[in-house]
Amino acid sequence: MSKKRVLVTGAGGFIGHHLTNYLKNEDFWVKGVDIKHPEYEPTAADEFELLDLRRWENCLLAVRDVDQIYNLAANMGGIGFIETHKAEIVHDNILINMHMLEAARQNNIEKYFYTSSACIYPMYKQKSSDVIPLKEEDAYPADAEDGYGWEKLYTERACRHYFEDYGLKTYAVRFHNIFGPLGTYDGGREKSPAAICRKIALAKKEDEIEVWGDGNQTRSYCFIDDCVEGIYRLMQSEYHQPLNLGQDRLISINQLVDIVAKIAGKKIKKQYDLSKPQGVRGRNSDNTRLSKILNWEPQISLEEGLEKTYRWIYTQLAKNGKIQGG
Ligand code: NAD
Repeated sequence: MSKKRVLVTGAGGFIGHHLTNYLKNEDFWVKGVDIKHPEYEPTAADEFELLDLRRWENCLLAVRDVDQIYNLAANMGGIGFIETHKAEIVHDNILINMHMLEAARQNNIEKYFYTSSACIYPMYKQKSSDVIPLKEEDAYPADAEDGYGWEKLYTERACRHYFEDYGLKTYAVRFHNIFGPLGTYDGGREKSPAAICRKIALAKKEDEIEVWGDGNQTRSYCFIDDCVEGIYRLMQSEYHQPLNLGQDRLISINQLVDIVAKIAGKKIKKQYDLSKPQGVRGRNSDNTRLSKILNWEPQISLEEGLEKTYRWIYTQLAKNGKIQGG
């Protein structure tokens, strides 16, 4: 039997690159598409095309001769980026997502996967550090993160419309803070675990680092290997509604800093910058439905994931001559 042919968009980015590796290991033929090549190592894709997916004709080119689509391409970044680039994010991501859905329909694609986000959850359910974990049905009445979150929520609905009206088998996950090696760690688009690893890698044995907010804001963090495994498992199911994909261990930014400091063997004090964006006060994933649908939950501990991520970021910084004697 010939191999299934899959398209991964955003294959030059963090999760798309790891997903490409995973699918290659599962013996798929993989086409990767992005506006850039992966930054830190070459792609494992059988074919890789540089295409701007905001453009309709490029989406038609991208979906040619493939059976399934994993649509991960998006203009995005950490909280510092998404709170200051709302128009650009909404403009780019609406174009990418509507064009990709329609191109998938016109090409009779078997399965279509979409990456939504925990940013779709209402602000009013995330006002304290000690939050109740978010269930999928908590998304409504909607009050999503302004900009990035609303676009994700709307595209989830568009996926449902394409499933119900056209029979396109769509799948959607709501990621909760995915982190790991080969993710952006500097330049302004990095997320909190990578930024904290970088700051601590660059710090002296005893030092102080800047923390955004008062450090009592809480989140749950999911390691990349669990993320791609969850994506793959969902695509083997017949579940076509949005599903949380994340860990359900709630920790504060202060605790995150302490864990990374311990891994690094450094004594780190925190200097709080209350003028910096910190997003919602608290957010956690309720994994009841995830474990029921996939018969599985993320397995890798935060400590193990952070250890791998810290080592990788430290090595990158040393390679680039940023760490003295590294
Ligand atoms: P990423 O920024 O590393 O990857 C996104 C990729 O999309 C980038 O390589 C980028 O170049 C590409 N892209 C942007 N505009 C494009 C365009 N016009 N045409 C083609 N490619 C384009 O981000 P990631 O962390 O790998 O995220 C992947 C997906 O998961 C995104 O849809 C993101 O919104 C979603 N997500 C990620 C997280 C997380 O914690 N990382 C959380 C929630 C949702």
